[in-house]
Amino acid sequence: MNGCGDNVRNVMGCPLSKFSDLYDAHAKAHEYGRYFQIPSAPHVQVFAIDPNYVRDMEAGPKYDYGDKLLNRKFKIAFSAVHRDEQTGEITYDNCVELRTNDMGIAPIVEDEKVVGYQVYVGGGQGEKNGKPTFATLGVPLGVFSEENLMHGLKSIVDVHKEWGDRKNRHWARLKYVVHKQGVEWYREQVREKGGVFELPKPGFDPGPRMMHHGWTTLPTTGKLAYGAYIENGRLVDSDPDAVQDSRSGIVTGNGQLKAMVPAALQAFPGTEVMITANQDLLFVNIDPDAKETFEAKLAEFGYGKRKGKAYSTLRVLSGSCVGLPTCRLSYTDSEQFEPELIDELEEKGFGEVHESIGITGCERQCFRPGTKSIGWVGQGPDMYALKLGGSEDGRHQGTWVVVDDQWHLRRVPREDVSKVTAALFEWHHANRDNGEDFGAFTRRMGNAAAVAHLRSRSELEHLFEKSFPAPFIPPAQAV
Ligand code: SF4
Repeated sequence: MNGCGDNVRNVMGCPLSKFSDLYDAHAKAHEYGRYFQIPSAPHVQVFAIDPNYVRDMEAGPKYDYGDKLLNRKFKIAFSAVHRDEQTGEITYDNCVELRTNDMGIAPIVEDEKVVGYQVYVGGGQGEKNGKPTFATLGVPLGVFSEENLMHGLKSIVDVHKEWGDRKNRHWARLKYVVHKQGVEWYREQVREKGGVFELPKPGFDPGPRMMHHGWTTLPTTGKLAYGAYIENGRLVDSDPDAVQDSRSGIVTGNGQLKAMVPAALQAFPGTEVMITANQDLLFVNIDPDAKETFEAKLAEFGYGKRKGKAYSTLRVLSGSCVGLPTCRLSYTDSEQFEPELIDELEEKGFGEVHESIGITGCERQCFRPGTKSIGWVGQGPDMYALKLGGSEDGRHQGTWVVVDDQWHLRRVPREDVSKVTAALFEWHHANRDNGEDFGAFTRRMGNAAAVAHLRSRSELEHLFEKSFPAPFIPPAQAV
C-alpha cells in the first residue's frame, strides 16, 4: 500500500525463517508490517480499490502517523538465524541485507534462545547525481529486549519523523539524520521517547547474505524447501532458443519459468511458493521423498539452464534491478544487460568465481550493487559507473572509484564493462592473499591501485582519458 509514499514500506523478513524452530523473522516482518501499515480506509476510498483485496491490516496495535506522513520512505528488514542441518551450529543469515535499510533488526541467540535484538539504523543505497547524497550501511543503535522492541522501533521512526529533512527530499532519509547528528545523539532521542535498550553488542555479526538456493530441510515441518534461482526475478516463458518474450521484449533463454510455477504447485499438493529478498523463489513444504521428482518437474520446463547451459556460480550470485524498459527512472538497461554480461564473463572463464555482480539502471541502486563484489550503476544510455569495496556476502559497502578527488570509471561504455570486470578478476586471482575474496582484496589494495592496474591495460586506457570531480563522500563509511 502507498508504494511510493512517505511511509513505512513493505517490511521484509527471511522467508525460510517461517519454518525455523529458533526464530521466525517472517512472522516478525508481518507483525511489524501490520503495525506500521498506513490506515487502509482512505487508500481504498481514494484509489477505488476493492476492499476484498486489502488484507486485514487494521488488527492489533498500529503506529500513529498523526496528521501527516513521514518525511520520506522508510524501509525495515528482519534478518534471521538458522541451525545448520549437518553440524547443528547456529548460523546468522542476512539474506535481507538488513543494514541497507533505514532500520534493520537482527536476533541475538544464546543457548538456542533469542535473548534480544540488535537494531541498526541509517542504511540506504539510493543516491542522486549532482546532489550531496551517499549510499551507506546502517550502524548499530542498540540491543532491545522482546518486550521493548515495539516501543523502541516506534521511537526510532518517531525521531526520524521529527528530525528528517522535510524540505530537501534528497537529504530526507534517516541515514542523513544519523550522518549529521551522530548515532549517540540518535540514541539519546530514542531514550527521551521512552525507548529502553542496551548499547550494541560488541563484535556482533548478523551474518552473510545467504541465497537459499537448492534444498533445505524445514525444522518445524520436517519437509523440504527448494530455492530456485530466477534470473533477475523475471518469470516469463522463454523459448530455449532464446526467442524474445513477446510481452517484455526480454531475451532470457531460461525456459518456461512462468508455466513452471503453477505446474509445480499442482503436481506437488501442499507445496507453497515464497519470494526471497534476492528475487528468487522458495518452494516450501515438499515431501522429502519427492526430491528427485520435484527437480525433474522443474527440469521439464527448462529450469536450471540459460540457452542450454547450466547456471554458473557467478550467475546465480549476481543480479540486477529491472531498468529499461520497466522503470521510468532508468537511464539504461540493467535486467537486459546483466545476463549478457555474465554470458561474456563465462566465455572469458569466470563463470565459477564465487563473487557477485550487481547492476542497476540508475544511481538509486535498488538492487544494491554497492554491497556486491562489483557494482555497475547506470549513468547514461549504455554507460555504467563502477563501484568497488562491497563483497559477495553483503557485509561491506562499496564506493565509487575516487582517487585524489577525481572520480574514475564513471562512464564505462557497455562494451567495455566485461573487459573491466575480467581485468579486475584477473588482478585478484594473480595477487590475492590466501583465501582472500574479491571484496577483501579490493579494500586492501584501494582504489588507486585498482585504477593503476586497469590503466596499465592498453585495451582500457581510453577509459581514463576523462575523470569527473569526486561526488560527496561522507567522512566515514560504516563497515
Ligand atoms: S535502480 Fe533500477 S529500478 Fe531502481 S530506480 Fe534506478 S533503474 Fe529503476
